Amino acid sequence: MNIIITGASKGIGKAIAKAYAAEGEVLLLCARHEAALESTRAELQQLYPSCRVYVTTADLSVRSDTVAFANWCLQFGVPDILVNNAGWFLPGSVHDEADGNLEKMIDTNLYSAYHLTRALLPAMLQDKPLNGARHIFNICSIASLHAYPNGGAYSISKYALMGFSKNLREELKPMGIKVTSVYPGAVMTDSWGDYDNSEGRIMEAADIAAMILAAGKLSPQAVVEDIVMRPILGDL
Ligand code: NAP
Repeated sequence: MNIIITGASKGIGKAIAKAYAAEGEVLLLCARHEAALESTRAELQQLYPSCRVYVTTADLSVRSDTVAFANWCLQFGVPDILVNNAGWFLPGSVHDEADGNLEKMIDTNLYSAYHLTRALLPAMLQDKPLNGARHIFNICSIASLHAYPNGGAYSISKYALMGFSKNLREELKPMGIKVTSVYPGAVMTDSWGDYDNSEGRIMEAADIAAMILAAGKLSPQAVVEDIVMRPILGDL
């Protein structure tokens, strides 16, 4: 299967890529910075020689880059799975966060998924897929589900991504493509800076990947609409 994962050079995206690489799939990955992306490609290819990993740089907050990435993906054939994961987190509050934060967050966290999905859907809808294999995962957040202190523009952008994901689910119901909204709580990635997780307070990126892989393996007539995951001790 052709699996497209955005923002896959590190964190949750990389963990999802690793899980699909272990299954021997064809991976099409992007991120903005080439060195980390190439290092991820080399690592996955070495760990799982039977998979095929292709990477290209793209800044998905820029629409022309998003369209170029979609066209690059399509040269490998019809996408089976799309994971809209690329995202940017900056804490802040509506009343005093920097001017422009909302625009930047919407560009990266919402428009990337919206425009990439629109560019890929015509191909994904070809041959009216009936085997249930075609699937779109949107990596939202618990910040899509409720407001919290210091959520600000990030939380607003993730609420919007949830709105996108839910509309897509309704639209694609009769078209044979599954849509799953994923709402992780805290996951140990670079987004958490130098947070000390030695006591395992927050989740591992591999936990999110495991749920996504499991959701993709159901019968054609079953779809997991929402995946909500939190650390066992709850939100921080
Ligand atoms: P991360 O470790 O910072 O990784 C983000 C990935 O996205 C990197 O590969 C990054 O590479 C790429 N990226 C960022 N901006 C991009 C852009 N404009 N165009 C293309 N690629 C871009 O983040 P993460 O914690 O794994 O988060 C992944 C997703 O999960 C995000 O949507 C985030 O909102 C969501 N999430 C995270 C948590 C958490 O606690 N970690 C919780 C809930 C939801 P480059 O910098 O090279 O572009």
